[in-house]
Amino acid sequence: CGIVGVLGSHEVAPILVEALKRLEYRGYDSAGIATVNNGALDRRRAVGKLVNLSDLLVHQPLAGKSGIGHTRWATHGAPTVNNAHPHRAGNVAVVHNGIIENYRELRAELAANGVRFATETDTETVALLTEFYMREGADPVAAANKALDRLEGAFALAFLFDGQDDLIIAARKGSPLAIGHGDGEMFIGSDAIALAPLTDRITYLEEGDRAVLTRAGVTIHDARGKLANRAVKVIQIDT
Ligand code: GLU
Repeated sequence: CGIVGVLGSHEVAPILVEALKRLEYRGYDSAGIATVNNGALDRRRAVGKLVNLSDLLVHQPLAGKSGIGHTRWATHGAPTVNNAHPHRAGNVAVVHNGIIENYRELRAELAANGVRFATETDTETVALLTEFYMREGADPVAAANKALDRLEGAFALAFLFDGQDDLIIAARKGSPLAIGHGDGEMFIGSDAIALAPLTDRITYLEEGDRAVLTRAGVTIHDARGKLANRAVKVIQIDT
């Protein structure tokens, strides 16, 4: 029920957990983060409160300055570690709020192509679909776009890729998502409150927007695929 993402200049795991804490008010049953460290994508997930994820990270640290995080409120698949986000398929990790309404059709199509599933979630379909398009030769942005074109439902999504230390892709369709602008850093969050300790410069994605983030900034396309110029607002939230 919460999404965060950071392309930072410091170790990102504690920053992601802290940002997720600021989204706790939304409720959740499990949590997880993924990072890219020297190009290598990895993740940690835990059921229950964020303290369980923090404890896990003490014993199994996750290095890296790029990452995404998630608090889950299970809709499809029990609240288990295996069903917790981020979901990974090959080179891609995905966090998701909301519901992919047509996931059964997409699963059937992927299964017919020999793709295997590791979870019961609707979300895993997005990761598998993106990975499928990358195997066909699409680059991360093209593959995510092709996957997003297939999705029905209300959702917010963020993608992180193995081998890509400077890339997060985000999409908003029915669930809010905010982009935070730092100095040589970029952030995403379900709301500006999550990002308040990191930046006060916020761009709210509009319905149907897709955003490509690098540390240099964000490029946003609207629901019709046109380059969009979204305002950067300076907001005031007490931290
Ligand atoms: N439908 C997804 C799941 O059950 C996402 C739920 C959420 O919004 O946290 O895993």
